[in-house]
Amino acid sequence: MEKIGAKLRFKGIVQGVGFRPFLHNLALRHGLFGYVRNLGDAGVEAHVEGDRPMVEMFIRELRTASPPVCQITDLHVGLEEYSGRFHEFTIYSSDRMRSYSGSIIPPDIAICDKCASEVLDSASRWHLYPFTCCASCGPRFAAMAEPPYDRGHTNMATFSMCSACLTEYRNATDRRFHAQGICCSSCGPHVTLCDKTGRPIEEDRPLEQAAHLLNEGAVVAVKGIGGIHVSASALCDDALLRIRTRKRKSSQPFAVMSRDLLEVRKFALASDLEMRLLEDWRRPIITLRKLDECRLSEFVSPGLNTVGVMLPYTGIHLLLSHFSKDPALVMTSGNITGLPMATSNGEGIQQLSDIVDYFILHDREIVARCDDSVVRVLGEVPTLIRRSRGYVPVPVEVPFMSRVDVVGLGAELRSVGSFLHRNQCYLTQHIGDVDRMEALSFLGDAVKHLTRLVGVSYQGSVVAHDAHPGYLSSRLAKELSQAWGSRTVSVQHHHAHAGSLMAENLVPMEESIVAIAADGVGYGSDGEIWGGEILVTSYRDFERVGHLARQPMPGGDVCTRFPLRMCAAMLVDYLDDNRVRSSLLSHKGIGALSEEDLLRVTAQVENQTALSWTSSTGRVLDAMAAGAGICLERTYEGEPAMMVEAVAEEGKPEIPGYMSDLVVEQEVPTVDTTKLLLEAILAIGRAPLSDICAGFQQCLSEALASIAIDAAKSRGIRRVGLTGGVAVNSRIVETMRRCVEEQELTFLQHRLVPPGDGGLSLGQAVIAAQV
Ligand SMILES: [Zn+2]
Ligand SMILES: [Zn+2]
Repeated sequence: MEKIGAKLRFKGIVQGVGFRPFLHNLALRHGLFGYVRNLGDAGVEAHVEGDRPMVEMFIRELRTASPPVCQITDLHVGLEEYSGRFHEFTIYSSDRMRSYSGSIIPPDIAICDKCASEVLDSASRWHLYPFTCCASCGPRFAAMAEPPYDRGHTNMATFSMCSACLTEYRNATDRRFHAQGICCSSCGPHVTLCDKTGRPIEEDRPLEQAAHLLNEGAVVAVKGIGGIHVSASALCDDALLRIRTRKRKSSQPFAVMSRDLLEVRKFALASDLEMRLLEDWRRPIITLRKLDECRLSEFVSPGLNTVGVMLPYTGIHLLLSHFSKDPALVMTSGNITGLPMATSNGEGIQQLSDIVDYFILHDREIVARCDDSVVRVLGEVPTLIRRSRGYVPVPVEVPFMSRVDVVGLGAELRSVGSFLHRNQCYLTQHIGDVDRMEALSFLGDAVKHLTRLVGVSYQGSVVAHDAHPGYLSSRLAKELSQAWGSRTVSVQHHHAHAGSLMAENLVPMEESIVAIAADGVGYGSDGEIWGGEILVTSYRDFERVGHLARQPMPGGDVCTRFPLRMCAAMLVDYLDDNRVRSSLLSHKGIGALSEEDLLRVTAQVENQTALSWTSSTGRVLDAMAAGAGICLERTYEGEPAMMVEAVAEEGKPEIPGYMSDLVVEQEVPTVDTTKLLLEAILAIGRAPLSDICAGFQQCLSEALASIAIDAAKSRGIRRVGLTGGVAVNSRIVETMRRCVEEQELTFLQHRLVPPGDGGLSLGQAVIAAQV
């Protein structure tokens, strides 16, 4: 039998996912000798020798049978002569060589089914141990300071393995062979139940006790792998109201966690795709439709017909859910307004002791803060609302080789930073709103951490930022570029949205598309607030070929917080009409307007005092929400628009003779949003509110789409896409898709990065790379 050797170089997600043990076992099964080792650049190298058919079979099978999280993006095989120098198959310790290969360390992986069943098995030595993991599951990104993925580089460095763990770690046939995170109740970290001051409470089974406390209505902070959650029973109005009043005065929806799909189905609807996503190893939060007879407290997601749901992704969450009698526990990010989520025990106690009754803490450090990811299925397309745990730091491939490295810093809200190197764009975890110094330094640190993981120096990187001169992130860009001896590139907000849409859809360099950028706030090239834009765009430049009508915002941001003011400003020419006037005055409570308020709004618009102008889609949806009395005060970003969407859910959009001819043909066509809003307000009482809201969303979408389609046709452009924060509204997305596809054009939408500002830094990076 002919004998040969083969040298293999792997790139992709190949470290920290059980890939070396997998290759080891595969080699043994085929009677091959040699070695495998991690490379310092997060790639893997292997050498095998043996009978030629066995070597060939080994190479075939390693692609098809590799662990689920593993992604081989590149495999180089070099056949060699048989040397006979190997007498076994060895896993070598890691190589320190660092050269960029495009390989990356893995994202955090949810506890696997095998580990989960061991945790619940009273005969197993892992019974009730919340840090149970194996070679193919457990935290990675959140646990790792630098590559390669070895225990010494993780938060497990301070825990030495006991002899039982060491035996499994060394046993090539064990699932925990070379599992860097292996630990057990006698050698690993421990969970402690503490009172609200952080004082430990003696308890043999702290998670079981915490679950009982939650069921009885307590609020408990729970430290996980990437941060600290604030938890409470999802059935308990009282506990949820206490979180809301203590945490912030907001109706922001809370995510919940359930033991399994069976529990989820008790309160929410989930399609096959949604169920698959819930069970996916990334374990994102999935936005699901609530059942009509939903038992969850109204205070989980007030006013919405959806609820964000996830399944347990660590032993800690698994045990809490297992011992809880409630169908779901609220698990909301443990941050106080404006600050990044707490990660250390001390920080957690300091920030949260006013909010919670108890703490579940542990002695394993969180290296990289990482919030839960959020996914919503639009049509059949899973769309990321927030891209963080489970997705970071896997890069997004872009359709060209960048000659320069670029760091993108996003805008201000829901920020994410980026690092573009060659044809890969790495995005940081979710940073949050960067309007305070704490969040700004988190953004800077996260970008630098990312470049370390990638193994490329950030020195000399071009720094891309939003064109808004007042954003803190624009200031950070200047500081970083000075420190790194590089330059900054300012990128217009909606051009960046379009750039991210093009990049993730691999639109080639020389091509232009028509992008509909629909969002809340973005600094326009003319200094006004844009947000309902139709752009003919390439990576290099863009032309604004249509937009929503400019609308006055008397008092600026006051109109954002109290959208009825926005509604009155948009209808300022019709406030003498009794029907309009009485409709606007009919609303009561916080955010309502009086006769005097209407006079003041009119005067401010007429005299142009304290006035800004906007073409934002978000503000138009806000105005509809307020005009219909659905939402008079915005307590979190997107709230009024989400309320409109919720009310529209059951509505029929077709109301005869209602809302048409909204496009005003002029040099740059615009959508007459005043006419749209006026007709909607006048229809109140004549048609169900659900139909009015559905019709409103549809007419707005069709008008934007028709301008985009005309622009595409007149220029011979084949692709029309939708981007911006409004692109998470399922009716709006579906309406635009239908309009575009009816014209036999290709509809582009986001799949890999969020349509909102969480995807902005990808676009900033690819655009700045051209300058
Ligand atoms: Zn496992
Ligand atoms: Zn142990």
